[in-house]
Amino acid sequence: MSRRSAPPRRIGVTALAGAALAALLAPAQPAAATDAAADAAPVTAAFGEAAAQYDVPRDLLVAVGYGESRLDGHDGLPSQARGYGVMHLVSNPTHRTLETAAAETGLPVAELRQDTAANIRGGAAVLREYADTLGLSPHDRADLDAWYPVVARYGGATEDSTARLYADTVYELLRDGVRAPVGGGETVEVTPRAVAPERGRYATAGPVALSEDYPAARWVPAHEANYASGRTQSISAVVIHVTQGSYAGAISWFQNPDSQVSAHYVIRSSDGEVTQTVRDADTAWHARSGNPYSIGIEHEGWVDEPAWFTDAMYRSSAALTSHLADRHGIPKDREHILGHVEVPGNDHTDPGPHWDWDYYMELVGGDPGEPGAPELDFPAYSSLAEGDSGPQVAALQHLLTTNGHDAGETDGDFGPTTAAAVRSFQTAIGLPADGVVGRSTWTALLSAGPTASLGEGSTGEAVSRLQRALTAALGRTVSVDGIFGPLTGEAVRDYQSSRGLSADSLVGPQTWAALQAGR
Ligand SMILES: [Zn+2]
Repeated sequence: MSRRSAPPRRIGVTALAGAALAALLAPAQPAAATDAAADAAPVTAAFGEAAAQYDVPRDLLVAVGYGESRLDGHDGLPSQARGYGVMHLVSNPTHRTLETAAAETGLPVAELRQDTAANIRGGAAVLREYADTLGLSPHDRADLDAWYPVVARYGGATEDSTARLYADTVYELLRDGVRAPVGGGETVEVTPRAVAPERGRYATAGPVALSEDYPAARWVPAHEANYASGRTQSISAVVIHVTQGSYAGAISWFQNPDSQVSAHYVIRSSDGEVTQTVRDADTAWHARSGNPYSIGIEHEGWVDEPAWFTDAMYRSSAALTSHLADRHGIPKDREHILGHVEVPGNDHTDPGPHWDWDYYMELVGGDPGEPGAPELDFPAYSSLAEGDSGPQVAALQHLLTTNGHDAGETDGDFGPTTAAAVRSFQTAIGLPADGVVGRSTWTALLSAGPTASLGEGSTGEAVSRLQRALTAALGRTVSVDGIFGPLTGEAVRDYQSSRGLSADSLVGPQTWAALQAGR
């Protein structure tokens, strides 16, 4: 979901100066793109030139940058971990890629921080330096999958499991492709491809443990120098933060004893994955005066960059906050669910103006539906036919229309238009087109949508869809909270064994196909 409205980034004069300097320093550099092409698509050109100059796969270079920054350089302002620019060149006590980039490129540090083309060149130079250190041959360098340990090192994590998380994210981006608007009408693209990363020693890192406080979360503890054991006050608030950096970067920063900061939970933008880093009962250092009585949740992204605030992240975060509120008796209101900016004695602005509080609080309040959409969660789904009315008819109409079968107005009245849409949907999935919405049609409609593989620990919208579909298919209530816990696993097993599928509690292509066919 790209809603970027940032002005075009300036990479003009200093970029050309940098290119000229680099040409002097690297006489073997292949011919640069023409000035005209570079003017029309300067960021694309910068990636191409830097990749060629340092013999780093171009798509890998883009994916590393996209994972770090969504290709937004934030005008040279530092991230939480003191990283700069689209390639997030870092200068902190334990990780100094900015200085490495300066040494390798001969470019001044200030230019590497501020200028996008220089920053990309610096990122390429660091990747190449690591590739040489790790012994990649020219033949290896042509193989994208061989760069995995280089990418893992680039992330700067102190622990292998966090380094793996970082590198896996980059290879997922390569697999899924990238389309990043970078201002000025330019879009930087990476075409999706098959990947088979050679993880080397990282192959045995993890899987990480699961959280004991929140079973849907991974558990990657912060360094003990970055929080205090226990609490001096009871828990009465949740504080919402934005990381000013990447998900893996935040987790790794909390593992770094120099950072002197932490939060209880970190949430990933792309899919809402949750990692817990400090136990609820301990005092994380995230909001100064608010630390003793609050739980801090960090959201991957930047306050000025709405593209990071995905629906998956809102839903996952709201499910977590709702759980924390229930567990610790925190009222679900804006007095007790605060932004960092609202905690007295703090000078941070997060989560910033792009954070949608109304939507978030609606989700926290227990309604996981889209804004303006009818209620979809029911303890049981009734059989419906023309002439019926009520909230379940509204849910039916909404689902039909959002799945491409126009049910007319979502008014809760089952008329001829809705009946026609039901028959059209039934025909499309191979059910008898009788216009009556029974168990099969409900199951197919409620499960319709993307079919990401799910298992225990998964969270988000797909889990909610699964829970609703299982409620219809099994004829018993599977509560809809968007968290794949043990009860959801049991329901999946029951469904699988009753439908002749292998009962492994994992929702992969076969289980989704069965649900979406209304079985
Ligand atoms: Zn904050």
